[in-house]
Amino acid sequence: MEGKQIIGIDFDDTIVNYVERWIEVFNRETGKKASFNDVKAWRLFKLFSDVIDEKKMNEFFAKTWKEEYENIRLVDPLLPKVFADLYNDFSLYVITASFASDMQIEGLLKRNNVKYDKIVHVRSHEDKLSDKIRIYVDDNPVTAKEFSEEGKYIVLFDRPWNRDVKENGRIKRAATWTEAARKIKEFASY
Ligand SMILES: [Mg+2]
Repeated sequence: MEGKQIIGIDFDDTIVNYVERWIEVFNRETGKKASFNDVKAWRLFKLFSDVIDEKKMNEFFAKTWKEEYENIRLVDPLLPKVFADLYNDFSLYVITASFASDMQIEGLLKRNNVKYDKIVHVRSHEDKLSDKIRIYVDDNPVTAKEFSEEGKYIVLFDRPWNRDVKENGRIKRAATWTEAARKIKEFASY
């Protein structure tokens, strides 16, 4: 018998609201008053190039995990319920290039009662690509474009920085996890 299909699920801003907390750190450090909805581009340092460069952006990424950990919450309050349901039919792999440590990722999943099978920590988004996985859930517009061209199916979690990505046969958008689960099941039936 064939095993369960693996779903590759990103962590930052697909499971937890991370950029929202990054913005807090950014505002604190720079005196700016940016908000989550201002983040209309994927590369944060380009968006705020008047005050930060790539190095500073990364510094703030690390700082966010250090200083904002307690304030990081799920992208959708229904996520634990949706994951528990998906868990019956699929293998849920949390595949992430996050600046967080494995312990922090595990801690957040546990704190929020999120069911999953495995955490795979990779170095960059390209490393998420695997022969064993057909379906990915991610917020990264670059991953969506590249992986769909590799023949993968992508559920793109709606965020201000990926709104210009159009749906096609391989990319479907989802604004909630209830919607994401529906799209996953649709792709899984292909
Ligand atoms: Mg992400």
